[in-house]
Amino acid sequence: MSFYPPHRTLMGPGPSDVYPQVSLALARPTIGHLDPEFIRLMDEIKQLLQYAFRTDNELTLPISAPGSAGMEACFVNLIEPNDTVIVCQNGVFGGRMKENVERIGATAIMVEDSWGTAIDLDKVQAAAKQHPNAKAIAFVHAETSTGVQSDAKAICHIARQYGMLSIVDTVTGLAGIPVDVDAWGADAVYSGTQKCLSCVPGLSPVTFSDHAREVISTRKTPVQSWFLDMNLVMGYWGAGRQRAYHHTAPVNTLYALHESLTVLRDEGLEASWARHQLNHQALKAGLEAMGLQLLVAESDRLPQLNTVCVPDGIDEALVRQQLLKEFSIEIGAGLGQLAGKVWRIGLMGYASRESNVRSCVQALESALS
Ligand code: PLP
Repeated sequence: MSFYPPHRTLMGPGPSDVYPQVSLALARPTIGHLDPEFIRLMDEIKQLLQYAFRTDNELTLPISAPGSAGMEACFVNLIEPNDTVIVCQNGVFGGRMKENVERIGATAIMVEDSWGTAIDLDKVQAAAKQHPNAKAIAFVHAETSTGVQSDAKAICHIARQYGMLSIVDTVTGLAGIPVDVDAWGADAVYSGTQKCLSCVPGLSPVTFSDHAREVISTRKTPVQSWFLDMNLVMGYWGAGRQRAYHHTAPVNTLYALHESLTVLRDEGLEASWARHQLNHQALKAGLEAMGLQLLVAESDRLPQLNTVCVPDGIDEALVRQQLLKEFSIEIGAGLGQLAGKVWRIGLMGYASRESNVRSCVQALESALS
């Protein structure tokens, strides 16, 4: 029997609601991954990603796997065994970066901040000073587990100041808040398609600076992942017409990405950031009118991921179940240290719209009354 999923409004930490035109793009006829028309599509996707990331980086492409693969691609290509990496952690995903570093056989120097606060720049500066031989500083720009944004520009600047590479996770950031890869001077940046791009899950846009490319091409050891080795991937995604088979690209998913990036370009990055901010303000007003509080200080809040403190005496799982069953709205639970303590309400991409804010606030009011 065929599978027909229910219609949900996706207001959790991702995936977010997919643009209707993106779903339609998925159903277009599959063509070969070396078809000249497909190569033309790949070139357009690269340009659209350069626009989204605000970069001229030549090495800008979607990895054919989800955000975690984008993360892994940055680490396995830039870091070698016995290297040292400064890893900032203020939520779940900084912890995943540490895992990546250690599995390579490198050392992670952790800079920890409490969950719900931004990365402390003084601590990063102190760690760089104390470990001048570290090869890179890695951090999460938009922590999906807590709803916090950190100052990516300042952290990339510290990395440059100490001659280190910067590795930036902006899986939840891209298209929701300003991401400015060239102005930041960031070296390796990855994202995901299932958050503010409102595409289907399963791809990870990445971009590497020219300096990062040079580091990759002059490694002492081969990249231990064959699939994620950028030297090989570039044979397929690189400039020029001589594209060679590396892996079978997820053809239809790339149609979907092209469509969602076209939607973003047509709206304009600034307009997209402003829309995310506007709907966040509306949600905040609705939640506060109900007496609910946001976890994160106003200056550090992500407009696309709202972390709401669960009031005393409320069974948070029951509320989420009620929203799903009665209103077909998905919101997220807390992760890690914040499990049971918060809800995570996403207003990402296509899900960031006034009607969603209204129905979510009404549904929560009903569940909490
Ligand atoms: N980094 C951050 C900040 C994320 O929010 C996520 C997913 O939610 C990931 C990495 C991993 O992405 P994926 O689940 O697509 O592998």
